[in-house]
Amino acid sequence: MELVQLGHGDGGALTRELITRVFEPHLGNPMLGRQEDAALFSLPGGKVALTTDSFVVKPLFFPGGDIGKLAVCGTANDLAVMGARPLYLTAGFIIEEGLPLEELEQVALSMARAAAAAGVKIVAADTKVAERGAVDRLFINTSGIGQREAEISLGAEMVRPGDSVIVSGPVGNHGMVILASRMGINPGNGLLSDCACLWPLICEIIEDFPIRFMRDATRGGLATVLKELAVAAGLDLVVEEEKIPLCREVRELAEMLGVDPLYLACEGRFIAVVPPEAASAVVERLHRFEEGRGAAIIGRLQEGSGRLLLRTSFGGTRVLDFLRGQHIPRIC
Ligand code: MG
Repeated sequence: MELVQLGHGDGGALTRELITRVFEPHLGNPMLGRQEDAALFSLPGGKVALTTDSFVVKPLFFPGGDIGKLAVCGTANDLAVMGARPLYLTAGFIIEEGLPLEELEQVALSMARAAAAAGVKIVAADTKVAERGAVDRLFINTSGIGQREAEISLGAEMVRPGDSVIVSGPVGNHGMVILASRMGINPGNGLLSDCACLWPLICEIIEDFPIRFMRDATRGGLATVLKELAVAAGLDLVVEEEKIPLCREVRELAEMLGVDPLYLACEGRFIAVVPPEAASAVVERLHRFEEGRGAAIIGRLQEGSGRLLLRTSFGGTRVLDFLRGQHIPRIC
């Protein structure tokens, strides 16, 4: 088995070999292929969105995805929920000496697939190799640039009392898959990470509906994103527990492990706030997509003071706060 050596990161012949053998066949495109110091491109007028994220997930490969898919979807999704069409990404690889080349190639392949799904190109990249023990196998940083679609105003300042809150699908799958993998629990065939590129869904709804706010529910899960929205908007957000889509496996494992699935990370779900009269039509539109099949209206905003209130299935009300302490490090 061929392994990554320190020499693969020295910028010489071995680095070129790594690029031509592992990265180029999957990620190659004319812009990246120029191998210049920076990618050059023109942007149409209007607003541009720029974001960056680092990925240190453990394990590198998990049911439903891997660090490469996560690194592309995570950054592309941060652009998408800003109403920006993802255009270009950069990728920085920090590799531990001794990583099998075959695994790196699998990561490159899934990055290529995710980039195609999101409609982005990886136009600049960097590879560094650190000695054994200095990095845990592989870390990836991606930055992304996107073009804000014209005529869109999104943000917490846009939401109004009475607006509906929609979630695009079942929550907590990614966090549960990682938690289960780390605890050596086989989550069963049914449970996969929700890791996915959201632009195809978002592109469809922002054109036709007056969306007021969007955010992807990543670290901290659905509850964290909803609490952040309530605070930023200065309104109370009331969520109906029984309307929140949850997979049976996530529900059962969460009960067994004593974690609250509402705080488990997602990597392919977003929330959207829309005027109440548009909510059902948005959900119907999302249902046309594989990733949006479980979309649901889960609550609404009302006058208040930034509280997140959960109406439980038993008729009570729980006040949900920001997550304290982290139940799982390195989920993304
Ligand atoms: Mg985000």
